[in-house]
Amino acid sequence: MKTGKKVVTIAYGCQMSERDAETLTEITRQEGYERSEDLENADLVIVNTCCVRESAENKILGKIGELKKLKERNPNLKIAISGCMVQQPGSIDRLRKRAPFIDIWAGTHNLHNFSDLLHQAEHGGKVAEVWLKPKATLESTPLAEKGKLQANINIMYGCDNFCSYCIVPHVRGRERSRKPEEIIQEIKDLVTSGCREVTLLGQNVNSYGKEFSPAYDFADLLMDVDQIPDLLRIRFITSHPKDLSDKLIETVARGQKLCEHFHLPIQSGSNFILQRMNRKYTREYYLSRVEKIREILPQARITTDVIVGFPGESEEDFEQTLEMMDLVQYCHAFTFMYSKRSGTLAAEMEHQIPLDVKKRRLQKLMSVQNQQSLKWRQKMIGKTYEVLVEGPSRTNTERLTGRTRGYELVVFNGSSELVGSLVNVKIIDASSFTLTGEIQGSK
Ligand code: SAH
Ligand code: SF4
Repeated sequence: MKTGKKVVTIAYGCQMSERDAETLTEITRQEGYERSEDLENADLVIVNTCCVRESAENKILGKIGELKKLKERNPNLKIAISGCMVQQPGSIDRLRKRAPFIDIWAGTHNLHNFSDLLHQAEHGGKVAEVWLKPKATLESTPLAEKGKLQANINIMYGCDNFCSYCIVPHVRGRERSRKPEEIIQEIKDLVTSGCREVTLLGQNVNSYGKEFSPAYDFADLLMDVDQIPDLLRIRFITSHPKDLSDKLIETVARGQKLCEHFHLPIQSGSNFILQRMNRKYTREYYLSRVEKIREILPQARITTDVIVGFPGESEEDFEQTLEMMDLVQYCHAFTFMYSKRSGTLAAEMEHQIPLDVKKRRLQKLMSVQNQQSLKWRQKMIGKTYEVLVEGPSRTNTERLTGRTRGYELVVFNGSSELVGSLVNVKIIDASSFTLTGEIQGSK
């Protein structure tokens, strides 16, 4: 069905949010909407939201303000706001009051039902629907856009960990794993349409399948996905350090297509803070996991997430985080200031840290990490890496870009016919953010 209508989908936040936005785009495609980037001429704009930190929410509220002006210029425009911010307990009434011109509000659990809401809005209605619980039947077959080189695949939804700062379990529900045969079929179908790299998504992929009988865990799933013909690479995110098993590390070492990259969020280097965060590991245990990875896979890339200014974090606690950064030597770190999320345990904790202290700690942490990241990149100079060619470089369309198995972005000269294939690239220069290389030959 083609209606000539255009939809612009915007996602804020993590890969799961991007993945949900893709599902929404695909649902609207089936309803006759063509995907577009052109806001001025759109018939429908969907904003899939994030609420993990206050800064994300503020950005989204700013975007909603912009969309109000767009709707004033184009009264036929329909606007939908979906995802985590809408799902937050108690937020829908507040949001609707603040932005009454929005046509559709949808939470995280009813995204797959979006076409119903769209039909109502197309007939002039204003609709808001937030389910308290997900429906397994809808989640088991997420809709993906076909024909892309890379795809994100949900292998599980939700989270049971309740880290004390985190809103995710409150807006994404309890942990549930998709059946392996559904995941494998979805990947096979994507590969048939040209996909060569998949990223398996879960808030804590290491606990995949914990409810399955007979036993089948994340390492088993990786080995099965590794067998899919014509798929070149498999990534996964995120690994909770408490559940990172030796079996998983050994599996990554054994698999042909499994990329040697572990995103292992540490959050803090202080045992006192880790306990208050309810992370369920100590710095010593975390270090033992890093040592295991480095023993089995010395070339593996390890990246992390760190929060500064968690309630009760003293200068000493913060120093311990810096010390851990030094001990582990991460290739990259996502660094955040603690953000109070109402409904979480940490929001009620005493000794909230003032903003100026959080800012100072963040600056310090970022400068330490930037130096370490640069050191890593410089160490890569002169060595040759396997790169999956993704397409023309954004900054210089004469050149190509691609990523190493460790997810490092590399820019190099080469013919566009190489897009979608693996090539060997020798690194010749490293700046703070990009690597420059020369092709040594295709694989
Ligand atoms: N499931 C993943 C990540 C989820 S959210 C994991 O467990 O690692 C992504 C990152 O956002 C977290 O790792 C954490 O560093 C950060 N984050 C989550 N809640 C936060 C908050 N309230 N304030 C600041 N950062 C937060
Ligand atoms: Fe949030 Fe912790 Fe779950 Fe990650 S593991 S989503 S940080 S509660």
